[in-house]
Amino acid sequence: MASPYAIRILGDPVLRQRASDVTDIDGRLAALCQDMYLTMYEAQGAGLAAPQVGIQKRFMVYDLGAGDGPQVLINPVITESAGECEFYEGCLSLPGLRFDILRPSSVNVTGLNLEEQEVEFEADDFLGRLMQHELDHLNGVLLIDHLDEDQQRAAKKSLRKLSMGSSAAVDGIDAELGLSSRPKFGLFRSR
Ligand SMILES: [Zn+2]
Repeated sequence: MASPYAIRILGDPVLRQRASDVTDIDGRLAALCQDMYLTMYEAQGAGLAAPQVGIQKRFMVYDLGAGDGPQVLINPVITESAGECEFYEGCLSLPGLRFDILRPSSVNVTGLNLEEQEVEFEADDFLGRLMQHELDHLNGVLLIDHLDEDQQRAAKKSLRKLSMGSSAAVDGIDAELGLSSRPKFGLFRSR
């Protein structure tokens, strides 16, 4: 079955906006989640946040591939985090790119499920990383915002290659990476 959604790619403004809380957990939301499962599986992803399919609401779907099937987490919040580790992270909205990203190694997460029940769990390893990554999406934050200077240069190169022939896309990349590098470099760059 064809995926009901096209996954939004870097440069799409919807990926940069803060999503708003889900207020109605109803059949419509459940149906959206079903569609997002299909989209996620077709893209061979482990997680998908609503803004990645153009929905500005705070929820995500995920499947760790451990046989539990697809899960939904609504209005998720990280209440605690501990430790630090590097993880080779990718993103369906940045196709073809992966980077070693440093983040807390474990997080405590709360949220709601589709039955409107509160859930709370500790997430480490892959789940911990997935939660932090998808929560970033709900806040308009992307993987590239976590890159160091060298990684940004590599990302720029790869993105240019991926979008060769489209000057609009290249401008978009400059804008995106400029945006994330601004706090680090200030107005003048020495190289
Ligand atoms: Zn992502």
